[in-house]
Amino acid sequence: MSAPANANDLLAEIERIGADAERGGYTRPVFSSAELELRSWFESHASARGLDVETDGNGIIWAWWDVSDADRRGAEAPGADRPDRRGAIVTGSHLDSVPGGGNFDGPLGVASALAAIDLLREKGVVLRHPLALAVFPEEEGSRFGVACLGSRLIAGIVAPETVRALTDEGGRTFADVATGAGFDPSAIGPDTERLAGIAAFVELHVEQGRGLADLDQPVALAGAIIAHGRWHVRIEGRGDHAGATRMADRHDPVVVAAETVRSLRAHTLVVDDARGTVGRIKVTPGGTNVIASAVDLWIDVRHRDEDAVRRIVSEVTAATERAADAEGCTVVVTEQSFSPTVSFDPALRSRMQAVLPDAPVLDTGAGHDAGVLADVIPTGMLFVRNPTGSSHTPAETAGPEDVTAGVHALAAVLENLLT
Ligand SMILES: [Zn+2]
Repeated sequence: MSAPANANDLLAEIERIGADAERGGYTRPVFSSAELELRSWFESHASARGLDVETDGNGIIWAWWDVSDADRRGAEAPGADRPDRRGAIVTGSHLDSVPGGGNFDGPLGVASALAAIDLLREKGVVLRHPLALAVFPEEEGSRFGVACLGSRLIAGIVAPETVRALTDEGGRTFADVATGAGFDPSAIGPDTERLAGIAAFVELHVEQGRGLADLDQPVALAGAIIAHGRWHVRIEGRGDHAGATRMADRHDPVVVAAETVRSLRAHTLVVDDARGTVGRIKVTPGGTNVIASAVDLWIDVRHRDEDAVRRIVSEVTAATERAADAEGCTVVVTEQSFSPTVSFDPALRSRMQAVLPDAPVLDTGAGHDAGVLADVIPTGMLFVRNPTGSSHTPAETAGPEDVTAGVHALAAVLENLLT
């Protein structure tokens, strides 16, 4: 058998795919040529390891290391044509990115999973459970606006007909884009049978904060994901000439949008440890000498207490509506996604803690597929130190030694769960 792959080398293999010269970093939206190339990269690595690779109806890739009949004890003999995949242990992450993101958010968990398999094989670990590596599509929600779309679909948290109608920035529907990329959009939806076969899912991810850097530790276990949601704010006014239109005659949606941004900051600041962001604003038509006719903006709010998130959003909505009234504009606020606070499975975490006694337990403000799936199966997460503490930017990083420490931690956890 060849030497175990180094996860740093695996990440280096993909460091050109989806590189974004304009923004810096990587832009790898779901079903883009970059994301499809990354999926093929993963599939070829999985196949080279003899894993049985399949893509389910939701576009999630599963690469199986099955238990050989000889090693399966006490279970009924599986059919010759179909391996018994009940009680599976799953690890993996995602390969899509935000616009101008880093090379670690997502790919680190996928590369580490491949490298961890190599370590387990080198050690001669005999499986008592099947192991699957999973790659989830549209984790970031950067194309169709709904984060963790693949895991939400399989878990039945979002309706397939809703997803098929989602549109990207170019106005193309999920159904059209998926079809164009070779997927069948009529096949998306809940898959309770597959989920029922999973005993545990462990996702390794680069830390998206400075917790580990401050504690001087390479690897942590996840405690909870704080509640977060996204809202789309559509403000409509009246487009006109910037020179010919008197100030008193204007119905300018940009003025209303400014109040949305200001009030979000104000209402977030008064709630301890809350986070509120407007990171995307679209002004229509977007001319320097043109009063806008419409503004679309998106707000992202997070806090450990989900009621606090709801309160902030309703206060911002009220402030925006008052501003819209004063300006003679209209406003519609639509919830795009909401994820309550997620506490990862305590029994699984204790088991992981027994394997990694030095690893601290950290909460996170970032959403993950493991957080969505925590509703339906036992899930846990490992975080790898990110010295800059930044994520969703090219500044996101992980040192080579920490990447390797993460692989060893993941392999140790998997060994414990698989044997
Ligand atoms: Zn991620």
